[in-house]
Amino acid sequence: MFSKVFSADICGVDAYPICVEADVSGGLPSFNMVGLLSSEIREARDRVIRAITNSQIDIPPRRVTINLSPASLRKQGSGFDLPIAVALLSALGIINMEKTEGRLFIGELSLDGSINKVNGVLPICMMARQQGFKSVIVPKDNAFEGSVVNGLEVYSAGTLSELIESLNKDSLNPVSKIDLGPVLDRAYTESSLDYGLVKGQEKAKRATMVAVAGFHNLLYIGAPGSGKSMMARCIPTILNRMSVEECLEVSRIYSVIGKLKDNSMVLHRPFRAPHHTTTDTALIGGGSNPRPGEITLAHKGVLFLDEVGEFKRDVIESLRIPIEQKSIVISRVSRQARMPADCMLVLATNPCKCGFYPDRRLCRCTDADVAHYMSKIKGPIMDRIDICAGTARVEASRLSEEMDGMTSEYMRGRIAAAQSIQRERFRDVGISYNSQIRQEDIDIFCPLKDPLKDLLNKAYKKFNMTARGYYKVLKVARTIADLEESRDIQKNHLLEAISYRNIY
Ligand SMILES: [Zn+2]
Repeated sequence: MFSKVFSADICGVDAYPICVEADVSGGLPSFNMVGLLSSEIREARDRVIRAITNSQIDIPPRRVTINLSPASLRKQGSGFDLPIAVALLSALGIINMEKTEGRLFIGELSLDGSINKVNGVLPICMMARQQGFKSVIVPKDNAFEGSVVNGLEVYSAGTLSELIESLNKDSLNPVSKIDLGPVLDRAYTESSLDYGLVKGQEKAKRATMVAVAGFHNLLYIGAPGSGKSMMARCIPTILNRMSVEECLEVSRIYSVIGKLKDNSMVLHRPFRAPHHTTTDTALIGGGSNPRPGEITLAHKGVLFLDEVGEFKRDVIESLRIPIEQKSIVISRVSRQARMPADCMLVLATNPCKCGFYPDRRLCRCTDADVAHYMSKIKGPIMDRIDICAGTARVEASRLSEEMDGMTSEYMRGRIAAAQSIQRERFRDVGISYNSQIRQEDIDIFCPLKDPLKDLLNKAYKKFNMTARGYYKVLKVARTIADLEESRDIQKNHLLEAISYRNIY
């Protein structure tokens, strides 16, 4: 007897369908598995046989062949135990073969027959809906991930014997659907951090507001203890709420690495702050079975590199392409993984080794030392930065005040207004923020009057800007104009944007 059922595997953060075939014939009893399998899938044989036996089902001694196709792709996941067991049991006639049609099975088996949680259920359900599967059967502990995918029937099962019975009797346990919109609204609440508590940094706060409004990459530069990290860590308090689609897009990444909290999605925009000892693989992703790195975990949120000068140069360099392309492609022998990386990059650095440049009373670095220190950032990544913001050391008297200057609530309101202008502008273009304007569309969205063109050309020469830097100034000026609710880019908007390119 022969049967086949569907399952799925993950590459990067995408799921794709896998067909599991079982053939049972006479001859010497054996159990063979083929189809370019990783060692953990080969071990499935023992788990599946023990799980079936311990579910009080006798397997007659037969020659069993299991094939996972397409054969050209290397399979790695741990979720194949359940589909292998289901395929085998339907080939043996224990499960009614018709009941498995159009369904996708995913789950790991314990020796006692219980079905264990696996990673990547959310992207698998999303893929199943897209590919037109009738339903998906997931482990009970993964039920929540099935509850948020609309337009797809999802059933959960706790044990193999329970699943066999409910399949044969058409009494599968449906997972009820959850509307994520209200859940996201409830989660979008106040935090203990607030820009109102960051004193005497109105200029840096203004720069941060501009950066967030247009989703521009940002660099803080200032002396140690001047509040660079604090400024960055407050950014989540002014980010807008994620849409349901964004929530699913981000949550599926966390599902793949098993980092979704129990019965929850990722409800806030991610804020990732890897340590400076991190490797390039941890930052941009990789491995023989490509796993997402920090830049993908920061998708739709913020990637913050504190003390960026302390990172290894090649680690920083590795960010260049993904930051520009908003995604990362990792190629392996049999396949390619493309992972999303659409995040706002925020960096913080001291201006020199001792940290006090340009205050010559305190800084003892030579000009060459300062240049060398900054070259580590300037060379590889400065071109990807849209806004440089200096943080000032604050006199002690200012620190005793309560709320000071712009609060997070005020900034959030201004940002929301500027972002709704951008949404309206880009309705037909398929982008959301000014930072995403393509080079060929710059003249359409960021037109300058002639005197302002001259002004920008002078700045271009004076500050030795690159072409990329030139366009970044225009995009930032567009965001500043939006914050001021001005239709045209005015001189003061352009001057402010130019001032963000040059910190000294
Ligand atoms: Zn110094």
